[in-house]
Amino acid sequence: MGIVIIGTGLAGYNTAREFRKHDTETPITLVTSDSGRAYYKPRLSNGYRKGDTLADLVQSSPQDLVAELAAQVRSHSAVTRIDREAKRVVLADGEQLDYERLVVATGADPIEPPLAGDGLDRVYQINDLDEYEVFRQAADGASRILIMGGGLIGCEFANDLADAGYSIEMVFPESLPLPKLLPEASGQALYDALEGLGVRFHTGRTVERVDRDGEGVAATLSDGAVIQADLVLSAIGLRPRTTLAAEAGLTTGQGITVDEQLATSDPSIYALGDCAEVCGYVLPYVMPLTNAAKALGPTLAGEPKAVNYPVMPVTVKTSCCQVVAWPPDADAEGEWHIDGVTPDLRAEFYDTEGNLAGFAFTGKRIKERMQLSKQMPALLPGG
Ligand SMILES: Cc1cc2nc3c(=O)[nH]c(=O)nc-3n(C[C@H](O)[C@H](O)[C@H](O)COP(=O)(O)OP(=O)(O)OC[C@H]3O[C@@H](n4cnc5c(N)ncnc54)[C@H](O)[C@@H]3O)c2cc1C
Repeated sequence: MGIVIIGTGLAGYNTAREFRKHDTETPITLVTSDSGRAYYKPRLSNGYRKGDTLADLVQSSPQDLVAELAAQVRSHSAVTRIDREAKRVVLADGEQLDYERLVVATGADPIEPPLAGDGLDRVYQINDLDEYEVFRQAADGASRILIMGGGLIGCEFANDLADAGYSIEMVFPESLPLPKLLPEASGQALYDALEGLGVRFHTGRTVERVDRDGEGVAATLSDGAVIQADLVLSAIGLRPRTTLAAEAGLTTGQGITVDEQLATSDPSIYALGDCAEVCGYVLPYVMPLTNAAKALGPTLAGEPKAVNYPVMPVTVKTSCCQVVAWPPDADAEGEWHIDGVTPDLRAEFYDTEGNLAGFAFTGKRIKERMQLSKQMPALLPGG
């Protein structure tokens, strides 16, 4: 018995580390369907620019972590079922692990693009180290990469791969990159900067088919245009992995529903990271999960602590035009006020009552980000 943590991403490992600061005795078992190597996921999308090899990206092996955390690590072991009544998890090979408290840190799944064609084996996605490894092997010797999606991951890879000398085509349905984070003027600044690196945009369209074409592919867009490439990288979004929790009868919404102490609808099961919806917030970034782990460590050790979510602006690692943004709620009413000269912009969103409700900085103006973060109330006060 003891604590079982499903997932060895940043959420799973950080939870184990934080717990060990408060309890050195209780057994911990980390179970993961991947290789269990510890790595810092944000580095995947600027690895080429930094000259990182795959070996550079691995921070620790599962064996190192066993020693550091006095924990067991089960790699390549998917959990297929949570039996809440018996308080045990069932692994794919039939083995069962009993828990006193369970932490679900299963991350998110890349959304599969609805594509036709016979070239789908040349469509890649990158949401973990194992997938990155496969992509890098495929990209070795390639020169033309088509990126689907204009969000954070698509833009960062476009910048990184263009810097590494690849010829990049970007396809997405909106008219400008980072549509969920940026107002038009700031999105245009990033568009211009990426274009300056040689990235070619095909906006307002989606990829419908990917067919084999010699050693590469021919991608057919929704307007009938055809783009030749060596491979396709799909970055059209992530969806919290909630199936395991939902099948166990836990409450789920957009993510696994948890309260301010990260407890699910079953008080002996907790969730955090990309799979969790914390008091209504789904924030698939490093700082929210780091804060969540800092609260969950003591909570698991019997010293309950609520998670603190201050305003946590998102940094987009596009070196051609850096971006730091905290977007207003999707349904917020109000307007953007833009100051500066492209690409160095400061954008502030004020709601209809005159309250600051979001902001976006690009280029040299990113250094002003802390002023505005401090002007906004915390999402969750912690304590
Ligand atoms: C390319 C890229 C760049 C990013 N850049 C940034 C950035 O600059 N800044 C930022 O804040 N955020 C960034 N993010 C987001 C950030 O990296 C994630 O929010 C964070 O790493 C998620 O960690 P996690 O532990 O919740 O999930 P994951 O790292 O996805 O870990 C999930 C774990 O659960 C395991 N698992 C899942 N299902 C099962 C199962 N059934 N049984 C056993 N194990 C299971 C997986 O094997 C894995 O170990 C980036 C993301 C990507 C993909």
